[in-house]
Amino acid sequence: MIELKNVSKWYGNYQVLTDCSTRINKGEVVVVCGPSGSGKSTLIKTINALEPIQQGEIWVDRVPVHDPATNLPKLRSHVGMVFQHFELFPHLSVTENLTIAQIKVLGRSADEAKQRGLKMLDRVGLMAHKDKFPGQLSGGQQQRVAIARALSMDPIVMLFDEPTSALDPEMVGEVLDVMVGLAHEGMTMMCVTHEMGFARKVSNRVIFMDVGGKILEDCTRDEFFNHPEERQTRTKDFLNKIL
Ligand code: ATP
Ligand code: MG
Repeated sequence: MIELKNVSKWYGNYQVLTDCSTRINKGEVVVVCGPSGSGKSTLIKTINALEPIQQGEIWVDRVPVHDPATNLPKLRSHVGMVFQHFELFPHLSVTENLTIAQIKVLGRSADEAKQRGLKMLDRVGLMAHKDKFPGQLSGGQQQRVAIARALSMDPIVMLFDEPTSALDPEMVGEVLDVMVGLAHEGMTMMCVTHEMGFARKVSNRVIFMDVGGKILEDCTRDEFFNHPEERQTRTKDFLNKIL
């Protein structure tokens, strides 16, 4: 489904990703963790080419993302992305936020887009808020709308970059519940998160990145959590700090 082969990236002289290779199969949930500045956000953004790479290959559903000839808007239309900050359009209602890209990017009719958008809004438990504006919702609700908006595009994969880290603690659970539901339904997901409860519950694999943008561990959930003796020292230190 997603394959990264020897991906390297520089910002000027600074190497932010170093020879990263991994593979995410259909239906897998992969959690990416690691210290601040280790390149997690950059890595996840390379998958829909929000960040270009200088070396290596990235394949999404047999589309070569690294190839300059690839139609990036088309690729992005079926790669869902949810960031730390919800990035809803503040001047549009919840329903309009859910439908605009379906209409403009996928060419759906307004009716069809509304039907699909409201179905996803219902899925995240927010149907009662369909006519509100983002500013009238809590952070957790806005993030659930952002997830519903991404799902409305019928993504083949969902990318999450610390979707709960900007939320007040009492709202983290409602967003994680939606993500757990998606994982159980078989959505292919790559999630940058330090929510290790989520990782333990639903991830298939855990990637640990270290400074310099290196993938230091890429192992199964069981290996990551239950066999600490086999982990690298840097990973153990990190886990000791956050667990
Ligand atoms: P965090 O946990 O704080 O979100 P991260 O692991 O997501 O960190 P990135 O945001 O991918 O890390 O950044 C990796 C490194 O690249 C950092 O040292 C950062 O300062 C640097 N960096 C990120 N974006 C740019 C940019 N546009 N130009 C130059 N350097 C950048
Ligand atoms: Mg980041």
